[in-house]
Amino acid sequence: MPRTRLVAGNWKMHGSRASNNALLEALVSGAGRLSGAECAVCPPFPYLQQVSDRLRGTPLAWGAQDLSEHAQGAYTGEVSAAMLCEFGCRYVIVGHSERRQLCGESDARVAAKFAAAQAAGLVPILCVGETLQEREAGRTEEVVGRQLAAVLEKSAIGTAVLAYEPVWAIGTGRNATPEQAQAVHAFLRKKVSGATRILYGGSVKAQNAAAIFAMPDVDGGLIGGASLVAQEFIAIAQAAAAGAARAGERIGI
Ligand code: PEP
Repeated sequence: MPRTRLVAGNWKMHGSRASNNALLEALVSGAGRLSGAECAVCPPFPYLQQVSDRLRGTPLAWGAQDLSEHAQGAYTGEVSAAMLCEFGCRYVIVGHSERRQLCGESDARVAAKFAAAQAAGLVPILCVGETLQEREAGRTEEVVGRQLAAVLEKSAIGTAVLAYEPVWAIGTGRNATPEQAQAVHAFLRKKVSGATRILYGGSVKAQNAAAIFAMPDVDGGLIGGASLVAQEFIAIAQAAAAGAARAGERIGI
């Protein structure tokens, strides 16, 4: 089944009104070169208004980096799915390894957040991935399988997005090889619907994107550091679009 490739930028806790303006202007002016892949950015919550003001009416989508599993109430510091919808978010990242590790988010909590996002009409980008220790112990499939199963117990994944992000590759400059990524994506592919896009994330740069996106079960990327540099991010999105064109040629569309 053909799936539209997606390249999503996770800005993490970076940016300022001024630096965001410059980045958004550069992305909008590069957006004409991005046809063939969908592109989105996920800024910190306070900048969602700024991002939606600039990106509305352009081919670029936006989303958030997290949400609360609760609809409303006494949850100081939390942000609900309905609030994200008010800012025009299409996507929301759920279960990023930094939240699992730094904020102690359990599989059950991630599953509840995923369900809350879907119920509000957002497209969750569910992150799964193993630590280096887990990989070296041969536990990669067990770990990502468990993280995904917790979500599938509660929700159908359908057209949501899955992101395989090996923890050892995030922000380290050490990406998974295309073959390592493909092996895990093929494992995950068997557990989700044909419509589910599976992104790879972890030290994707302009220079390694094409090789990773050439893998048959890689439908794009979740990009951290490189999403803060307009030319890098655009080049990565172009690599995804070029990969889509080549895949289309292979299956005759
Ligand atoms: C991420 O944070 O989701 C990520 C993939 O980061 P980086 O690209 O910087 O490794």
